[in-house]
Amino acid sequence: MIVVMKVGTPELEIARVNQEFSERGLTPEKIVGKHKVVIGLVGETAALDPLQIQEISPWIEDVLRVEQPFKRASLEFRHGDYSEVIVPTPNGPVAIGKNHPLTIVAGPCSVENEAMIIETALRVKAAGAHFLRGGAYKPRTSPYAFQGHGESALELLAAAKQASGLGIITEVMDTADLEKIAEVADVIQIGARNMQNFAMLKKVGAQDKPVLLKRGMAATIEEWLMAAEYLLAAGNPNVILCERGIRTFDQKYTRNTLDLSVLPVLRNLTHLPIMIDPSHGTGKSDYVPAMAAAAIAAGADSLMIEVHPNPAKALSDGPQSLTPERFDRVMQELSIIGKAVGRWPQVKAAIA
Ligand code: PEP
Ligand code: MN
Repeated sequence: MIVVMKVGTPELEIARVNQEFSERGLTPEKIVGKHKVVIGLVGETAALDPLQIQEISPWIEDVLRVEQPFKRASLEFRHGDYSEVIVPTPNGPVAIGKNHPLTIVAGPCSVENEAMIIETALRVKAAGAHFLRGGAYKPRTSPYAFQGHGESALELLAAAKQASGLGIITEVMDTADLEKIAEVADVIQIGARNMQNFAMLKKVGAQDKPVLLKRGMAATIEEWLMAAEYLLAAGNPNVILCERGIRTFDQKYTRNTLDLSVLPVLRNLTHLPIMIDPSHGTGKSDYVPAMAAAAIAAGADSLMIEVHPNPAKALSDGPQSLTPERFDRVMQELSIIGKAVGRWPQVKAAIA
């Protein structure tokens, strides 16, 4: 249930109304939107009568039920106000969301050594990226495949952050590593395979760093939003959704099927920012530029693109990785469509 307060409601009155809700055993959540303050109520609201709630204060404009099973993640919960995730980085804060320019995340699948991660960081920054991605802990189908360098790779990410000023996005595979990952990462990634690891969602939701939640490869949109709900319910409001392709009947020519229809669908359902990952979505570097362009045209808030200085020698996901040269060219191509939809960041000008 949400309680919409009238424009100009005094702070003291909002506090009084919140207090009243708490006394009734509800958990009020104050959401300050662009124009109005909304109080989200989660708990046993089924028996509540909206008319009685309305009587608590003359400053209450409306009382509405949230029909979706994902309460906090729903667009209704914020009364149609899209959320933004603001991430402090050494190069300055980066805002991710519907009302902001596109955010670009780029880097290798895995952090392999210091030279490659620093080179990649500097190259993707020069091309206009805001974040460096790179796995220290990798989810691999085979136990014999490269598993990531673990803790030592976190140090390399810290060095790349220092060299480039880029924010860092890296994946958590085991919550035992969460604290040390959070020391380096500016955004913590939960990978497709852990999207429904509910114990992990609770722990990552209880820490402060923003979270990038990838869609499970066979997850419905509702399951994905319910997973986001775990993070929000645990207290972390800074959640970004990332579509990375799903399993369909035809996986012969692409690794996954990139579901770009999530862009308009999620916009109707949730206030959370949306990232698209055409690298895992297609599995082939040749297909990445077209799907990245399509994602921007369809309204993505952010793109994640794998870039490796030598894809042929990559320890993971080489076939879907762009070289830094190609990434730079692709960024120039994407700028045309980005500008056409009014979402292209002025990164180069800002940090040149
Ligand atoms: C990755 O980002 O490198 C990764 C393993 O992604 P996903 O969880 O989408 O497979
Ligand atoms: Mn990868």
